[in-house]
Order: sequence, then structure tokens, then C-alpha cells
Amino acid sequence: MPNLTERDMLRLATCDVRWQMLLPKIAEKMWLMVIGGHRNEEKQNEAFRNGLTQVRWPNSKHNLEPSLAVDLAPLPLDWKNTRHFFELAAHVWAESLKNDVSVIWGGSFSFGDYGHFELR
Ligand SMILES: [Zn+2]
Repeated sequence: MPNLTERDMLRLATCDVRWQMLLPKIAEKMWLMVIGGHRNEEKQNEAFRNGLTQVRWPNSKHNLEPSLAVDLAPLPLDWKNTRHFFELAAHVWAESLKNDVSVIWGGSFSFGDYGHFELR
């Protein structure tokens, strides 16, 4: 898995085994980074204060252990390049279908959380 760094793998280790199975396959298709997996109460409150989430502890899929949610970003990193995030979502969708895993994309939320993916 040439695309995933040690830091990506550490973050991925806090996520459900289905993400650990899917991510290396997705990373073969697209250069990406793992922004985050599990968030404890402190991290969730911090994300809420910073406007990165509209969900309070413990109601985020990031708050479960292991985390059902993972935040990803296409590389090179450009938060404004929404098209690039759509491309990433298409790869996540394709791999999840292939592996019979049901995924919800944050891009479909009313507040458009484009890097967020969660298992049903
Ligand atoms: Zn998220």
C-alpha cells in the first residue's frame, strides 16, 4: 500500500476493521490521507468548537470504539477542490460496493461534510 503513511495507518487502526480492509484498496486508486478516525470526548468537543462537526459527543459515528466513521482527504490537499472530494467519494463507493460494505457519504449531509464517510 504505497499511498498510506504510518500516520494514516495509526489513524486507521482506530477504525472499524471494514475501513482497515477497504482503505488500502481505495488508496491504490487515489492518492489520499486519513484525516481522522476515533474521536474521544475532548476531540469531539474541539471539533464542534471549530465548526468541523455539527454533532456533539457522544452522537458522532467517530465517537464509537472502534470508529464507524473515517475522515479522508484527497492529496495534494486542497479543501476547496470539491471535485476532487467527489472523485474520492466515487472510489470509496466503488470499493464498498465491491466488498458488500454499506457506506454513507458526508457529502450527502445537509452541511456537506465531503471528507466524511461512515458505515451503516
Ligand atoms: Zn467525519
